[in-house]
Amino acid sequence: MIDIERAFHRLASSAFRWKFRLHGRELAYLETWGMDRVMEQGGKFIDERLAPAEPRNDGRQTPWGNHPIFVAQHATATCCRGCLEKVHEIPKGHELTEDEKVYVLQAIRQWLESQKREGRRRKRFMAAIHISRPTIVQAAGNKPKVIEEFIGRVNSQTDDVSVARMKSPGGWVEPGQMPEFDEYTIVLRGTLRVTTRDGVIDVHAGQAVIATGGEWVQYSTPGPDGAEYIAVCVPAFSPGSVHRDS
Ligand SMILES: [Zn+2]
Repeated sequence: MIDIERAFHRLASSAFRWKFRLHGRELAYLETWGMDRVMEQGGKFIDERLAPAEPRNDGRQTPWGNHPIFVAQHATATCCRGCLEKVHEIPKGHELTEDEKVYVLQAIRQWLESQKREGRRRKRFMAAIHISRPTIVQAAGNKPKVIEEFIGRVNSQTDDVSVARMKSPGGWVEPGQMPEFDEYTIVLRGTLRVTTRDGVIDVHAGQAVIATGGEWVQYSTPGPDGAEYIAVCVPAFSPGSVHRDS
C-alpha cells in the first residue's frame, strides 16, 4: 500500500482515470443524500465487492454509473483487485485488512469531495444556466401530487435554494413536518391550507405564505379543485432536512 497522495499523483497522470467526472444523476444523488450517507453505502460496496480474497467477477464487478461510489471507484482505481494492485500496490489474493479498507474509502471520499468542489466552481463561472426542464419528484401524502423541481439539489445541483411547482389535487393532505429550511409559497390557482401550532391559514390564488424553518407545519389542499403553487425553500429542500412526522 502506497501513500494516498502518491496514489493521487499516479491517478492524475492517467488519461483513462482523468476522464471520470461526477455529474448528472450521480452528482445529484450525492448532493441529495450527503457525503456521510453515500460513504456508508460505499463501505458496504467495498466489503461485498472488493474486500474478499477472491471477489466475484473480479475486474468486472463495478458498474460504470448509477451510484457516485461506482464512478469514484473507477476514477481512483479502486474498482477491482487488479487496479488496486497496479496503482495502489495492495496485492491480490488476500482479504483486505481494516487499514486497507480505510485507505480505499479515504481515496473514494477524497475524490468525491474534489468533484463536489469542481461542480460548484463550474457553475460559478457561468453567467446564466438554462434549466430546460424540471425533475419530477416523488410526493408524500394521501393522493398523487406532482412536484416539478426546477431549481434545487436534484435538477440543478443548487444547495442554497430550491424552486418547485406543485400541482396538488383536491383532498390532498401531506404528513406534518418540521423542516430545517424556510419555505416561501405563492399560490397560483386554488387554495393551499397551511396548518401550524398557531392555527390554520387558507392561502388563496394570488396570495403567499412564509413558513419558518424549525416550526411544525402541515400543507393540504382541501378544496375540490386542489391548488397549483410555487414553493421556494431556503436552503434547498432535501429529504434529509424535511423531517416529516412518522
Ligand atoms: Zn479495475
